[in-house]
Amino acid sequence: ARRSDGGGIVVIGLGRFGCHLAASLTRMDHDVLAVDRNPDQAQRFSAQLDRVVQADSTEEGALRQLGITSFDRAVVAIGASVEASVLTVLALVELGVPQIWARATSQKHAKILSSVGAHHVIFPEAETGERVAHLIVSRLLDFI
Ligand code: ATP
Repeated sequence: ARRSDGGGIVVIGLGRFGCHLAASLTRMDHDVLAVDRNPDQAQRFSAQLDRVVQADSTEEGALRQLGITSFDRAVVAIGASVEASVLTVLALVELGVPQIWARATSQKHAKILSSVGAHHVIFPEAETGERVAHLIVSRLLDFI
């Protein structure tokens, strides 16, 4: 049985970032609903994630049908398509999801995400690059 405290987490977009995020949250015992528009992608992760559905997250009605309104948190992990990412955040705002996390691929993308109502904007590539830079430097210092 998954954790019931804090409600479930919706992860939208199972690309390289989204699939690791969804798998991590699942391993941490959270109730995860993963969504991807691409049926092959949804099928690919159906064995390792508890719930994976194929749907276009830019369609508010599709998200409503999936019962997204009962989730406390959603992460929009779509990166390449700014349009799909912004429209998905907008749909989640309109459905009243309390905590919306959205991935940005540029500062301009981030600005739009915040202005349509994303509560948290994340930059996975930039954040990982920065973290790895610190890691490499700290490891080098071990040998000096
Ligand atoms: P990554 O770097 O994480 O691999 P990416 O930027 O290369 O991501 P994207 O084009 O952002 O790839 O797509 C990530 C995932 O989001 C894909 O599996 C894609 O099918 C899914 N996706 C894109 N648009 C939608 C949408 N409207 N609804 C649901 N899923 C979507």
